[in-house]
Amino acid sequence: MKAAVMYGVGQPLVIEDVQVDEPRAGEVLVKTGASGVCHSDLHFMEGSYPTAVPIVLGHESAGVVAKVGPGVTRVSPGDRVVIAFVASCGNCDFCVTGKPFLCAGSAALGRGDRLKLNGNPMPQFANMSAFAEYQLVSENACVHVPDGVPLEAAALVGCSVMTGVGAVANTAKVPVGSTVAVIGCGGVGLNVIQGAALAGAARIIAVDVFENKLAAAREFGATDVIDASQEDPVGKVVGMTGGGVDFAFEAIGLAKTAEQCFHMTKAGGRAVVVGMIPITQMVSVPGAMFLREKGIIGSFYGSTRQTHDMPWLMELYRQKRLKIDELITRRYRLSEINEAYDALKKGEVNRSVLLFD
Ligand SMILES: [Zn+2]
Ligand SMILES: [Zn+2]
Repeated sequence: MKAAVMYGVGQPLVIEDVQVDEPRAGEVLVKTGASGVCHSDLHFMEGSYPTAVPIVLGHESAGVVAKVGPGVTRVSPGDRVVIAFVASCGNCDFCVTGKPFLCAGSAALGRGDRLKLNGNPMPQFANMSAFAEYQLVSENACVHVPDGVPLEAAALVGCSVMTGVGAVANTAKVPVGSTVAVIGCGGVGLNVIQGAALAGAARIIAVDVFENKLAAAREFGATDVIDASQEDPVGKVVGMTGGGVDFAFEAIGLAKTAEQCFHMTKAGGRAVVVGMIPITQMVSVPGAMFLREKGIIGSFYGSTRQTHDMPWLMELYRQKRLKIDELITRRYRLSEINEAYDALKKGEVNRSVLLFD
């Protein structure tokens, strides 16, 4: 099969012929239908997060089950599925206490020997390696896609929609009437914004440095926008709200913007870090602010319980209460993946998807 291989930091991806194993017990071979071009993969390409190479990246996808291994009961060949990038084991302490997104049995970098490049084993990325024509995944990672939801929309439920809406609904549990700020209006940030709108937030203040992204933020439910290239977002948010917001979401992945989120919350408020902050960056906040009961917390994968959360997100999409088509700014073929990432780096797109035959 064709797959986009990363050979090293800062190098363009190369389309290669990669061999994928037959599914073993509990495993499923999925023919990729659509794969999202997410910023998280770029962190690995640019080296702000480490990865073994060569590797096939990609972790936001949906497709059609091609083959199932022995004992698989959740899905059958022909089923349309979205693939969760944390394949919860169901048995560890995190899984049995309702936090499958922290599953101890689902390493971020998966099984080491199921993909082969020129006969040499390659690890799978996020247990899936979605920039490929086929993906070998755990049946636990598969969630059925209902009729009326195209695979390109389902793919985005696999990362950006779940991560953004879930940060609001699951991690922060934003109550109706709250004030919310969101720094970063890309694929994840726009979903934080529409998640806040769904939650009934009274005010949703979007912060970005690109005019096109602030326009998109309004379309997704922002009530106010701040161009951080023109004014200080912290002072502006504090001024607009008479002391700060209840919740501020960081959706870029920088220590600086995480600190800005903390500073723009009011007493008792929460800064929620959704973006992937490079592993070398420390986040620093004034300790005295804890006396005001301010907090800063992380949110991973929208605290998803995928078999519960992804179906309701797809149902809201089907009812046109959740925007996903509007997120998809461009469509590319796998062979155009480097162009898709160039467009992402330049801030030209909300989200791009790679479409497969
Ligand atoms: Zn992602
Ligand atoms: Zn587990």
